[in-house]
Amino acid sequence: MKVAFIGLGNMGGPMAINLKRAGYTVQAFDLSADAIAKVRAEGVDVAASAREAVQGAEVVISMLPASKHVESLYLGDEGLIKLIQPGALLIDCSTIAPASAQKVAAAATSQGLQMIDAPVSGGVAGATAGTLTFIVGGPAEALERARPVLQAMGKNIFHMGDAGAGQVAKLCNNMALGVIMAVTGEALALGAAHGLDAKTLSQMMAVSTGRSWATEVCNPWPGVLENAPASRGYSGGFGNDLMLKDMGLAVEAAIGVGATVPLGELARNLYAMNKQAGRGGQDFSSVVQLMTKPA
Ligand code: NAD
Repeated sequence: MKVAFIGLGNMGGPMAINLKRAGYTVQAFDLSADAIAKVRAEGVDVAASAREAVQGAEVVISMLPASKHVESLYLGDEGLIKLIQPGALLIDCSTIAPASAQKVAAAATSQGLQMIDAPVSGGVAGATAGTLTFIVGGPAEALERARPVLQAMGKNIFHMGDAGAGQVAKLCNNMALGVIMAVTGEALALGAAHGLDAKTLSQMMAVSTGRSWATEVCNPWPGVLENAPASRGYSGGFGNDLMLKDMGLAVEAAIGVGATVPLGELARNLYAMNKQAGRGGQDFSSVVQLMTKPA
């Protein structure tokens, strides 16, 4: 089966590589030469443009930064919706506004295509290991068609409802993650200010009630976990600007239905302050540096 894969960044690159390893014929594309070089080195075929990548594809997957990129790819400048072969299945794995996902899905359906929103959780480590969680919105029939493709890149699949429901659920998850990361940094900074060793404090928390992904997998303190972005100058991982985008989408989603998200609003401001401090391109765990400069 031929799969077009557009967007080969921190997440899309390893996902495309896993699809290729699972035996799919992958035609990939990205605007960045660096991103292309990484997947090419793993034997993935790269097209000269998104338009070329989707030619003859039965499945089209996109993994782009934000709503504007997804709308532009399918509806705007690239206008892929009109070029993709009728009957094809579109899977957008980017985290975008639920309203954007609904708009693109409606346009796809009107062109005789099927579409699901399937944002992911699990980070770069999950994308690389093929253990992502897919959080899906769209028709059940389209999800069943997508299931084997998703299983080549992940291990858990949740069907949340109609088009856009996957995005709403993903925003709920990331709003919780954003708050938890910020407060974990705050707790470690408090301990360090009292002379505690951040590694021992993290090890204790990881088996106590303060445990979370932020203590155990992506600890914000340098040197606590060898493979965490904090231990490599906050590079790779999940960018602060992407977290800021997701927190903003979560707050907008709350405003849309009159929900109260006081901690989400507060944490959104922390990621905005972290961006203003010049760390927009770093992993979002660098938010700890608003509380202290970890040694
Ligand atoms: P990234 O910035 O590393 O990658 C995005 C890629 O899209 C870049 O390589 C960029 O060149 C490419 N791109 C942009 N516009 C394009 C276009 N028109 N055509 C082709 N390529 C284009 O971002 P990422 O970390 O891979 O995240 C992608 C999405 O996944 C985001 O929506 C993010 O919120 C979400 N996400 C990220 C993580 C993570 O840990 N990084 C985890 C879960 C979800």
